[in-house]
Amino acid sequence: MKHQKIALCPVCQMQVEIQGVGRVLRTQYYQETYYFCSESCLRIFKKNPEDYVRRQRDRD
Ligand SMILES: [Zn+2]
Repeated sequence: MKHQKIALCPVCQMQVEIQGVGRVLRTQYYQETYYFCSESCLRIFKKNPEDYVRRQRDRD
């Protein structure tokens, strides 16, 4: 069982370690949680969430 989780920052595609929940930059959008490498990416995402959400879905 892994203790470390990795998520992709939806804005810049950088890997984000999800460790202590309190320190992680994240936001919820339509019941999905998105993790960010930095506050600037979080800000960019919030300006235009649909753009990045759609991009992530297309990849699956
Ligand atoms: Zn980022």
